[in-house]
Amino acid sequence: MSYIIALTGGIGSGKSTVSDKFKSLGIPIIDADIISRKIIISNTKIFNIIIQHFGLTILNNDGSLNRAKLRKKIFSEQKEKKWLNNLLHPLIHEETQRQLMLFNSPYLIWVIPLLIENRLDHLANRILVIDITRKEQISRIIKRDKINKLEVKNILFNQVKRIKRLKKADDIIDNNNIKLKLDNIILKLHKKYIQLSYEYFLKKNIK
Ligand code: ATP
Repeated sequence: MSYIIALTGGIGSGKSTVSDKFKSLGIPIIDADIISRKIIISNTKIFNIIIQHFGLTILNNDGSLNRAKLRKKIFSEQKEKKWLNNLLHPLIHEETQRQLMLFNSPYLIWVIPLLIENRLDHLANRILVIDITRKEQISRIIKRDKINKLEVKNILFNQVKRIKRLKKADDIIDNNNIKLKLDNIILKLHKKYIQLSYEYFLKKNIK
């Protein structure tokens, strides 16, 4: 069992960039996106249900799922998003719980973009929010994903507002600045989390 740090932030805020740095310090990473991707790929029944629902146009030429197309569909229609969530969430939840219990490192990083939206914050011991202004966020996503402003806005519409996310934060990384000394910030947090984990488990053992 490890002390659980939930790492969250809006799309394109820098979650992967930050989690890669924790990973290089030897910290286990549990990634909600990887879990949901794995469930769709490794569970033929689920894969087929999705194809039946959305049609063959949701596939790439090689027969794999076109995630960008799926994302476009679910973010432009609320009822499609709800349908997919109902299908996947119980399985994602089960696999997440399994993985959260798997490690014995002092702490682990759980990358969970929709932590607040899906009311999962009770599963974490601490919440680390990556913060970025809306303007910077839109420009980074357009650059990275080669999508237009309207598509970005559809995605953002489905995510909680910056202020609401920040209110839940125990720690915040302000990732607006390109010249940010991210390595130093992560190292500081790393030391803090080791200390917090130590205190947490000490208290738990004493009780
Ligand atoms: P998603 O929600 O889509 O998974 P994310 O939160 O994991 O995204 P990243 O992929 O880490 O975000 O970052 C989004 C983009 O912004 C990437 O192209 C990344 O290289 C860039 N980026 C991250 N941090 C910075 C920074 N401080 N300055 C400039 N660009 C950055």
